[in-house]
Amino acid sequence: MGITLERKLRSDIVGGLADPFQKKAKGRAVKMNYNEFPSPCYVVDEDLLRKNLEILKSVEDRTGCHILLAQKAFSMYATFPLIGQYLDGVTSSSLFEARLGCEEMGKEVHIYAPAYREDEFDEILKYSGHIVFNSYTQWIKYRDKVKACGKHVECGIRINPEYSEIETDIYNPCFTNSRMGMTLKNFEAHDFEGIDGLHFHTMCEQNSDTLWRTVQVVDEKFGKYLKNLKWINFGGGHHITRDDYDIETLVKSILFIKEKYGIEVYLEPGEAVALNTGFLISTVLDVMENGMEIAILDTSAACHMPDVLEMPYRPNVIGAGQPGEYQHTYRFGGPTCLAGDIIGDYSFRDPLRPGDKVVFCDMAIYSMVKNNTFNGVNLPSIALFSEAEGARVLKTFGYEDFKSRL
Ligand SMILES: *Cc1c(COP(=O)(O)O)cnc(C)c1O
Repeated sequence: MGITLERKLRSDIVGGLADPFQKKAKGRAVKMNYNEFPSPCYVVDEDLLRKNLEILKSVEDRTGCHILLAQKAFSMYATFPLIGQYLDGVTSSSLFEARLGCEEMGKEVHIYAPAYREDEFDEILKYSGHIVFNSYTQWIKYRDKVKACGKHVECGIRINPEYSEIETDIYNPCFTNSRMGMTLKNFEAHDFEGIDGLHFHTMCEQNSDTLWRTVQVVDEKFGKYLKNLKWINFGGGHHITRDDYDIETLVKSILFIKEKYGIEVYLEPGEAVALNTGFLISTVLDVMENGMEIAILDTSAACHMPDVLEMPYRPNVIGAGQPGEYQHTYRFGGPTCLAGDIIGDYSFRDPLRPGDKVVFCDMAIYSMVKNNTFNGVNLPSIALFSEAEGARVLKTFGYEDFKSRL
């Protein structure tokens, strides 16, 4: 499945060695000595992360907006002190994310979930300063608890502007019968006395032209409510740190709303924070043949990079080209017994041998937060790298991690 479909949404960085991203990533990754890391291992490059954070901070500085890390995409909390130097805090999808962001970054904590559990809500209140509700009934159910909790908590409502340019339904919060947020029709049927802000999230890996068009729709439909509120949250899906991202139109979109309504604007990107800052180092275990050369790796699409199968997409590999581009083409497969545990087809100048290292790019986001121990396959280790401090392995996993969840 994933092998024939190119990474659709992330298509800007697909390609072989001629691709400028590949050159950049290679330039970074060759500075690492792969043998200093266990295999497999996620390695986040702190210098690259800092570059992304500087771009995000420049948007905050130019517009006065507030940018939060969406922990759903990237929760490697060893980096939270660094991220907290640049961003205003975190957004969370659950009690546990709210707690992690509160304890490890200690700045603003926002939370949104389609519905909150009653037995968790007191704790959610303890860790969060902003709570976004998905429906009128959720707001009514919890508003007295919020008022009585002894600290000031800002409350928002997620709206569904019924406008999204995402073509894949699984990532489109505005598809027919979506449960994400309130449509204008439902919103208008109620009185939202006590609500401080609105939240929409309708984008995925998109540029700012999409945001501009979305903001026009939100303004047209919900503008009349904005002037009485304190803030609006533009959600995530803004690919701000991508090379071809148009920052000027982002700035224009933020200032348009800020100036028209005199309210604060939040953005909560996940991907953009750690985009292209992580690698997954793996090792060839065996090479076999069945109509083509197949390399079995010690890392698995199903276990360690589930978006490869879910999205699906073909991750870049350092030093590899498209199939057929170089003399030796291999299909990369994982060590599990899932037939479709296939990462993609890649070509190399030299033949691969057991023991060779294979390094996948852009493996910081939606990787560590989604991995699993299917088939009893161990989890990759987690490490940091920077030019100043070199390699630092933070975590390795073992049998107990597998067993303790079962
Ligand atoms: C997924 C999500 C984000 C982050 O999205 P990215 O695509 O990683 O930028 C932000 N806010 C909400 C509500 C989300 O569901």
